[in-house]
Amino acid sequence: PPSKCPPATKSFLASILNPYPEKHRLQQWVGGHLLEDIKKIPEMPYMESKHHVDMLMRRFLDSDVVPSFDDLLENPEKVFGFMENIWAEGSLSVKLSVHYNLYAMMIKLLGNEDHKKRFLGNLKDIGAFLMTELYTGTDVKSLGTTITYDNNKKVFVINTGDNKNQKYWIGNSLCSARYGVVFGSLVCGNRNQGIHAFVVELRDANGKLKSGVFIRDCGRKGGLNALDNGAIWFDSVEIPRENLLNKYADVSEDGAYHSDVKFNRRFALHIGALLFARIGVGSGGMSYSKVALAIALRFSHQRTQFVNPKTGEGIRIIDYDLQQYRLIPLLAETYAASFFQHYVKRVYIQYVKEENEEKKDELLKQTHLMASISKAQISWLGLRAIDESRECCGGQGYKFANRLVHLRSEADILVTLDGVNHILLMSVAQILLGEYTKELQDRNFISRSMYLAWEKASDLLRQGLTMSYYQSDSAHLCSDSFIINALDFRKERLKHTLATRLYNRIVKNKQAPFLAFNECAVHVVALGKAYSEFSTMKAYQKMLLKIKRIHKRDPDYKKVIRVLRDMFSLHGLNCILKDNFFLENSVIGSRKSKAIRREVLRLVKNITPHSLFLIDQFDMPEYIFDGTLGSKTESLEDLNPRPDEDEPRADLDWGQ
Ligand SMILES: Cc1cc2nc3c(=O)[nH]c(=O)nc-3n(C[C@H](O)[C@H](O)[C@H](O)COP(=O)(O)OP(=O)(O)OC[C@H]3O[C@@H](n4cnc5c(N)ncnc54)[C@H](O)[C@@H]3O)c2cc1C
Repeated sequence: PPSKCPPATKSFLASILNPYPEKHRLQQWVGGHLLEDIKKIPEMPYMESKHHVDMLMRRFLDSDVVPSFDDLLENPEKVFGFMENIWAEGSLSVKLSVHYNLYAMMIKLLGNEDHKKRFLGNLKDIGAFLMTELYTGTDVKSLGTTITYDNNKKVFVINTGDNKNQKYWIGNSLCSARYGVVFGSLVCGNRNQGIHAFVVELRDANGKLKSGVFIRDCGRKGGLNALDNGAIWFDSVEIPRENLLNKYADVSEDGAYHSDVKFNRRFALHIGALLFARIGVGSGGMSYSKVALAIALRFSHQRTQFVNPKTGEGIRIIDYDLQQYRLIPLLAETYAASFFQHYVKRVYIQYVKEENEEKKDELLKQTHLMASISKAQISWLGLRAIDESRECCGGQGYKFANRLVHLRSEADILVTLDGVNHILLMSVAQILLGEYTKELQDRNFISRSMYLAWEKASDLLRQGLTMSYYQSDSAHLCSDSFIINALDFRKERLKHTLATRLYNRIVKNKQAPFLAFNECAVHVVALGKAYSEFSTMKAYQKMLLKIKRIHKRDPDYKKVIRVLRDMFSLHGLNCILKDNFFLENSVIGSRKSKAIRREVLRLVKNITPHSLFLIDQFDMPEYIFDGTLGSKTESLEDLNPRPDEDEPRADLDWGQ
């Protein structure tokens, strides 16, 4: 049956899921000015495709649909909205993201007014971001590149030194970048002051590489081959003293190092500048999930397979329970991720705009937590959604023109870029443990012991989970109180047990903290994931309340809210069903577990008739589906027409 959701609500949900006010103008511009050239990329020779995308990027930067560099701090929502609405080509999106979100953002956050004037005056002076080295990726504190102050010449000198320190994977560096923000160890008067960032001119205004800079292509990748990733070496490259991004530390002309900010905080502030890009990667994962599900669901509503013996009609594949069970939970998860991402961006904007230093530090921590979990969770979701969609489309899903295999190759790297997902979850758990330890330290000995001893029992009781252990009716299972409390309990419990394990190892057994943490790494990541799922569902819950509050009297919205509510329950219950923790820790018993399984199937059935309506709410430009299974206007037959009379035939010359 067709979706019962009224079309009147279309713009309302779309304005939450994709709130960028200029999206249609931007989408139209891309459709009119770039699309035809973008379509040529997959068939182009390797190097040509990189120069081609460089040309497209410059055309984009010349237009009036791109944000300015000032928007990065003044209207971050505009930059988010822009990045989320390009849709068309991964290599181009990543290039723009490196230029705006990494290169320019670093200068904005770590530099001074002079830096902004000198390096951000012209949008088409494309930038790169040079952090990763061949032997050092995640462990940024150990970068080997040195940037040494020469007191005689009054300049900094950059050296790669050992070949292991070559900068690696640097986006925009091979075909586009004039400048780069380079991260390395600042050495002043024989003292290593730790990691700092500098702007380095890689090429002059004519595109010629500066003396002492060497760049080489990193080679063919699993996808995004039109993105120009280069390896870079610096051989005694001199840069002016003023090129140190000196918001938190500076070197005077006579070579004296000065910083008001302690080492660890300074490092955190430098790395904090990465958060904007990290949120952008999460948005990228979400876009992939939306496109993939749109293709699979639209195809599933069209395609028939096997015949209904009663009616003699073909059965649409969406009407198979199994097809629904494979796709609808991913749609619910994508909605949950969208609402969460909405929240994460708000926290970020608050952080950027906060003037008070103490509050800003707290918001930086919050932003770090939120950006890290959203990036990890949503980039993984993108991959899962593409994989399932690909399979759900059968052989057609494997056809390149239908985009799913191409999307897979593009989305793959998002789980590694801007922080390896597992490491991000570990860093989140580390922050949570820090807060927990602080809370314990603030108590006296007796209070602390009682707190620890009663924590498990009181948590369960406090959250009403014990009382409802035998309850398995639909209303209870789908309720906020059950879902949110269960997820909250898991997060708290994992935190408490992890803290206890680490305490025993480090304090009682005198084990080195790094080793102890390593031995508990699986537990650490489980805590990160638990926190992530809890935060997502909380954001979803808040969004539902907001929608209800605003539209409670509108009968049309009531229907939509019911569907959103079902999706909330579906995703929440799936989180519970998929983790043995809840059975192992007696949050649910086997009877309740089976009831949840049945409830999930019921919710999937409820939501399925609305699935096309829900996809349309993402407000994606239809041109990205042209020529694919996701097209609204072309059938599978239209996409595979009978050959014309004058079309070349598949004749072969076997010489007989
Ligand atoms: C297409 C592409 C574009 C890129 N663009 C840029 C760019 O523009 N600028 C830039 O600076 N970088 C860029 N990068 C680099 C990217 O950010 C790094 O690849 C990423 O940070 C991971 O670093 P690494 O590859 O050195 O992996 P490593 O840090 O070596 O990690 C490898 C694996 O080891 C494991 N591991 C590592 N540490 C731990 C630990 N503590 N505990 C448990 N397991 C661990 C994890 O499984 C991890 O995935 C790009 C990479 C690619 C592929």
